[in-house]
Amino acid sequence: MQAGCCEAHLIYDLHAHSNASDGNLSPEALVARAVERGVQVLALTDHDTTGALARASLAAAESGLVLIPGIEFSTQWMGRGIHVVGLNIDPTHPVLQAGIASQLELRYQRAEQIAHKLSKMNVKDSLVGAQQLAGDAVIGRPHFAQYLLNAGYAPHFAGAFKKYLGAGKPGDVKQCWPEMATVIGWITAAGGIAVLAHPDKYEMTRTKLCTLVQAFREAGGRALEVVSGKQLPGVAEKLAAIANQFGLLASCGSDFHVPNQPWQELGAFGKLPSSCEPVWHAWQ
Ligand code: AMP
Ligand code: MN
Ligand code: MN
Ligand code: MN
Repeated sequence: MQAGCCEAHLIYDLHAHSNASDGNLSPEALVARAVERGVQVLALTDHDTTGALARASLAAAESGLVLIPGIEFSTQWMGRGIHVVGLNIDPTHPVLQAGIASQLELRYQRAEQIAHKLSKMNVKDSLVGAQQLAGDAVIGRPHFAQYLLNAGYAPHFAGAFKKYLGAGKPGDVKQCWPEMATVIGWITAAGGIAVLAHPDKYEMTRTKLCTLVQAFREAGGRALEVVSGKQLPGVAEKLAAIANQFGLLASCGSDFHVPNQPWQELGAFGKLPSSCEPVWHAWQ
């Protein structure tokens, strides 16, 4: 298995989560695992928070890992949920922090709406349950999924998404996020590079995806995540062609959340196709 994307002997993983959002490793444990897995440049990209970056940077400095400050924002475009990763951001930038504050408020409001919808499906106490599981982390659907599993409403984690929380399911709250272009503006203001995350996950036709990519580019987006975790054969080549068609740089990352999920393990993904220009050229 090729470990991450490499150039000049460096191995890059530019999409990963800690327990500041919906991952389950502390920032220190995440950095240690990345080092163990041979990753040399890691971007920590928690959902809608920069809360773990300071601790991750300290741990990285001690272990010789290069830590790229990042974030993964939830946005919408044409009514669909789209994730935009910001790489090499200034985490202290006031525009970025104002955006984060409003995302956190939206997440709290959404959690109340999810709980209300679930209560109509006879699921009790899910707001308190999800909040307890989230603790200090940014609350998200995975905390509801874990509650549904723990309380016996779902047979397994994926089943909670399938029955309750996934797109189009009763607990799915639509169109609660800011427009994609607005969020690209926050990232750009903070000196970061906006990356369209895991394009293959949106299950769009090529035509629709190209329309999305064009809108992303016009709003100031700079890169496409050409490799995300383990993808089916041919996906990276298809995305590389789209990145090149629209003049975008190419990023790669595992989208790591928790250990023992080999399909999104730190550093465990294929190489960027050689036709791509890697996103790290923008900051080297
Ligand atoms: P949220 O950011 O609260 O909307 O939650 C989205 C997160 O839920 C994603 O980043 C994944 O970590 C997780 N997720 C989404 N869909 C699924 C699924 N079908 N099975 C397991 N986890 C999922
Ligand atoms: Mn997640
Ligand atoms: Mn995502
Ligand atoms: Mn992610």
